[in-house]
This record gives sequence, structure tokens and C-alpha cells, in this order.
Amino acid sequence: MPYDINRKDELNIGLFCASRPSNDPTYVKAAYEFGQAVAKRGWGLVYGGGDKGLMGAAADGALDAGGKVIGVIPDFLLGKEGDRNDLTEKHVLASLNERKELIASRSAAFVTMPGGVGTIDELTEVWTWNVLGRHDKPVGIYNVNGYFDKLIEFINHMVGLELTGAHYMNAIRVANNAEGLLDALIPAEVAGEIMNRQNRDKIINE
Ligand code: AMP
Repeated sequence: MPYDINRKDELNIGLFCASRPSNDPTYVKAAYEFGQAVAKRGWGLVYGGGDKGLMGAAADGALDAGGKVIGVIPDFLLGKEGDRNDLTEKHVLASLNERKELIASRSAAFVTMPGGVGTIDELTEVWTWNVLGRHDKPVGIYNVNGYFDKLIEFINHMVGLELTGAHYMNAIRVANNAEGLLDALIPAEVAGEIMNRQNRDKIINE
């Protein structure tokens, strides 16, 4: 079945972040706590499936808090990013594109935390697709320690030169705390609606 980026029947956060730990432990700690924060809300986490870096820490945080974690990894990365068996769901796919599509279709909103070039690729894809009207799922940046300040400055530089539209900045939420960002991306009434759909589908399928 093809992936449907517009499906809205699960309360999962799609998380993009580094597959490396950084030499500053602040980032891994923030990722672990972010995973916990998502799980404590009763929401699921969808991510790249590995056990390394911020990615692994976020999954650990969510699992340790009793949450649902969906990992999506291409087979050629199992050796490099981790072949873990403690996830609620693990999807091993053939390509990076399939991974991004499945993460997108299973997420109600997207959060990007500090990461490398791969993370920036994932962020810009869901962000541009939102602006281009391919989906209307909210996109947020969790700006731990001001990590993304220079990126935001650069985007504003593009806007200033009219090389990109000002509406790009309107299409993204930037916050320096996890709870505030999650509240802004999925307000309580929206979370309630998705939860009702999720429970209704569960009853129908039982
Ligand atoms: P990084 O931020 O570079 O540590 O990468 C974060 C995640 O993005 C990792 O799981 C990488 O495998 C993945 N990644 C790297 N490059 C790409 C790309 N071009 N498209 C999709 N995912 C990527």
C-alpha cells in the first residue's frame, strides 16, 4: 500500500535529529528528555530506528517512560545506525526515501532537534512540502541551546534578499523548550480529535 502523508489517525511525533552524540552531552540529554516528554503525554514517537546519538537517546527516553516508539530504517543502515529489538514497531525498508515517506505518513507533526546534514535534509523536506501544500502537518524546531539560530538567521537572509518567501518562516514553529513546542504543534483539542480517531479505528479493527 502506498504511504499516505496526509493520514491523521495517530498521535505520533516524527522526530529528526543527529545519529551522532556530539561532544557536548547537553544534546543527548535533551533528546532523552524529549522522548520522555512525548511518551508522558501518551503520544508515540516515529524516528529513524537507530540506537546511536540523539536518535537513540530520544527512543530510549520514550521507551523508558513506557511510550510507543516506531523505528524506520533502511536495511543498509542497520549496521551503522543500530539494529535494535526493543522498539514497539520496527520497519526495515529498502531506501532513505521510503524511510522518509513512512515516517511522514505515521506522524501527526514533525520536530527537528540538533543534528547533522541528514537532519537538515529531513527538516527541509517536511518544511518545504508543508509550504508547497503537500501536507498540512505542523513542523517545528526544538532549538536546544540556540543550535539552530544560525540556520534561522540564514533563512531570514534569504527572505531579505527575496530568494525565498517570508511565508517559509511563518510555516515553522521554533521553540527552546519541549513542552511549549509540543503544545504549539498539537494543541489539546487537536490531540483529542486525533486520539478519538485512533480509538475509533482500534474498536473497528477489533
Ligand atoms: P545526521 O543528522 O547526519 O546524523 O542524520 C540523521 C539521519 O538522517 C540519519 O538516520 C541518516 O541516516 C539520515 N540521512 C542522512 N542523509 C540523508 C538523506 N539525504 N536523506 C534522508 N535521510 C538522510
